[in-house]
Amino acid sequence: MRRLCSYNAASAGLLMLMATSGTATAQEFAGREKLRSHSAEFRREVIKVTNGVWVAVGFSDANSVLIEGEGGSIVVDTTSDVEDARAVKAEFAKLSTAPVRAIIYTHLHPDHTGGGGVFAGNDGPEILAHRLLVDRVPDVGRNGRDGGDQFGSTLPDALFINAGTGLEFGRHPAPSAYVAPTRTFSGDRLDLTIAGVRLQLFHTPGETRENVAVWLPDRRVLLPGDDFYRSFPNLYAIRGARLRPIEQWIASLGLMVDLGADHLVPGHTRPVLGSANVRAALTTYRDGIKSVLDQTLGAGRQPLPAGILWNRGLVGARHLRRLCRVVRWQPDEALPSARKGPGGPSH
Ligand SMILES: [Zn+2]
Repeated sequence: MRRLCSYNAASAGLLMLMATSGTATAQEFAGREKLRSHSAEFRREVIKVTNGVWVAVGFSDANSVLIEGEGGSIVVDTTSDVEDARAVKAEFAKLSTAPVRAIIYTHLHPDHTGGGGVFAGNDGPEILAHRLLVDRVPDVGRNGRDGGDQFGSTLPDALFINAGTGLEFGRHPAPSAYVAPTRTFSGDRLDLTIAGVRLQLFHTPGETRENVAVWLPDRRVLLPGDDFYRSFPNLYAIRGARLRPIEQWIASLGLMVDLGADHLVPGHTRPVLGSANVRAALTTYRDGIKSVLDQTLGAGRQPLPAGILWNRGLVGARHLRRLCRVVRWQPDEALPSARKGPGGPSH
């Protein structure tokens, strides 16, 4: 028997997979209905955040954001692949026919960069990212079964509910249209104006070392990349990836709290609207991550308790929920070949 335990990029929390022989059928587990209800986060919709800012949710694993400027627009993150990007681009075309002047990648993960070429089209936009996006060794980890387990990419339909950060990831792979950045920045921050829109790009290491948060000071909108979404993150992705920079992640979230945004548009899940809600969401998330770090370091060589022990202020926090499940699963060889990959892990 092979037993795997993975943070389901989500929500959703801990997904425990047991590979056994036998037929896969829907199983009950504690939190099943919560996990089902979490699928509402990925209801397909283009949401107006504020004047001139929209986010496409539920078209792909990750979100894509349209910012309208004067005579041009800006796209932040580009979905996973050609098919998803085309679907979002068609929706954005209903809102703005202006050419795309810039594309910003918040980080390298394929669910944010795979549709770049589709959005660029023939507009010749500048493609922006932090320098680390092109310098670093990609930490996507192991492909195939090991990476796919993280998202339930190979889980039989009867057992699959959602992928935590998206409705699904890697279950219906399509070609990538990644295009490399044309302009990068090093250091902590880049200020620029594109199509009349003032932008501040902050280097905010967290889920990835190159993560960039995009701040629109005139519209009070913050795009944190994947340093925040409405589910507890993988502090370590158990797919062979490098350990994530947890202390920097905590600092990055602190920086974001201090910006005092009115609207928070994460790389996954629906936006958080209202300054009090944004502050609460970011603060709780930062404190939750710090709590895990503190407990881990405090445990030293002692084994950690089976569950995370939230302090009183964090108990019940929606974005820190942990939904644990155990599923009985067919071994690799019993799965149809289409179910075996490519995994394409990102979170
Ligand atoms: Zn992502």
